[in-house]
Amino acid sequence: MVPALRYIRGACGPALGGFPGGFSSAGRPAPGRSWPLCQGGRPASTRSFDVVVIGGGIVGLASARALILRHPALSIGVLEKEKDLAIHQTGHNSGVIHSGIYYKPESLKAKLCVQGAALIYEYCKQKGISYKQCGKGLMAIDCPYTGIVDYRQVALSFAKDFQEAGGFVLTNFEVKDIELAKENPSRSKDGMKYPIVIRNTKGEEVQCQYVVTCAGLYSDRISELSGCNPDPRIVPFRGDYLILKPEKCYLVKGNIYPVPDSRFPFLGVHFTPRMDGSIWLGPNAVLAFKREGYRPFDFSARDIMDVIIKSGLIKLVFQNFSYGVNEMYKACFLSATVKHLQKFIPEITVSDILRGPAGVRAQALDRDGNLVEDFVFDGGVGDIGNRILHVRNAPSPAATSSLAISGMIADEVQQRFKL
Ligand SMILES: Cc1cc2nc3c(=O)[nH]c(=O)nc-3n(C[C@H](O)[C@H](O)[C@H](O)COP(=O)(O)OP(=O)(O)OC[C@H]3O[C@@H](n4cnc5c(N)ncnc54)[C@H](O)[C@@H]3O)c2cc1C
Repeated sequence: MVPALRYIRGACGPALGGFPGGFSSAGRPAPGRSWPLCQGGRPASTRSFDVVVIGGGIVGLASARALILRHPALSIGVLEKEKDLAIHQTGHNSGVIHSGIYYKPESLKAKLCVQGAALIYEYCKQKGISYKQCGKGLMAIDCPYTGIVDYRQVALSFAKDFQEAGGFVLTNFEVKDIELAKENPSRSKDGMKYPIVIRNTKGEEVQCQYVVTCAGLYSDRISELSGCNPDPRIVPFRGDYLILKPEKCYLVKGNIYPVPDSRFPFLGVHFTPRMDGSIWLGPNAVLAFKREGYRPFDFSARDIMDVIIKSGLIKLVFQNFSYGVNEMYKACFLSATVKHLQKFIPEITVSDILRGPAGVRAQALDRDGNLVEDFVFDGGVGDIGNRILHVRNAPSPAATSSLAISGMIADEVQQRFKL
């Protein structure tokens, strides 16, 4: 488990760090140790970073890791709003290492998936992370390269590599403002070198030169609060899973996927063996009434108003009305989902399944109601926009592709910010 850094009260007020002391001779905290915000009654320069990555999911952590491995002299911090890392999309998914067979040949998604799957297998082998290459049967196509893994475990391992290379992970840091440092004489020196101030909901702040945002379900809001483009908006799509009762697990030996509907980025309800031996069926794709709303009745008026007023959701609904109604119907009535699953395994009955957990996909949607399929980078203009790279859309299979995506992000950061 990565030692999560938490706010503790130090000699000079609120400080970042669960392990005071432990500094290496290079002036950095020892690997895995935290870095206090304040030292000796004055703001410590160590609260400033060359690069800050917002979002401690698999994409943010892989990117932070790639950046520090390429640029060991830079100070890099990851800011995560939760007390633990990788608990949203990264901790709520099917855990499939996709082979890339699904995606349009030559598309970025297909390329990153193929590269990413090879890199994930290699990484898991190196780090001793368990995975199974159990294959996929897609109607008559057998795809033995597909595998399964626990992506949260992979993400935590990325965080460990990052910290061991001298990076800092600050949890419980929910970013609320991103702005230019004011010309304040008491911190003008830092203000020059680190012109961006990132403040959290508790009023605590870090300063930095450059920012990379990988905020998943909040990627549009983070972009907006930095003064950059709020579009494309994120529309949360919940995916509910069913669980096959243990006595029926013998029915499923590998991943079984339907032929995907090319109009949507969702892969359709599938059978997925998990690393713990259980079998999950799903996920479906229904509109969630709350970002990070994992239960059907979780509701946020702001989230709903945002998608209705500010995104192309209404257009999407009109264009795909019957698909939406069908998905909602299957979410409500297990027998409808089971009927669909029986196309693949006729023996399955309603009494063989239980309702399971759910995940919420951060799906970018443009104003015309088009689901954004590919990975999107975005920056902005002006003093802040020129120093920010937003990762706007990292949909499935971004967990499979995370190491390939992180390489691309590191290239983009190097090129944009001339590191
Ligand atoms: C149901 C489902 C099934 C899937 N199945 C697969 C699969 O089988 N294989 C596959 O490859 N991919 C799959 N995916 C996709 C994959 O899980 C995601 O593409 C990937 O996890 C995205 O990672 P991320 O880091 O971008 O997002 P996340 O893991 O959501 O991380 C974003 C982080 O940003 C943080 N954050 C947000 N706002 C703030 C803020 N203001 N301040 C600080 N931190 C903030 C969040 O707390 C979060 O930790 C699936 C996704 C879902 C939902």
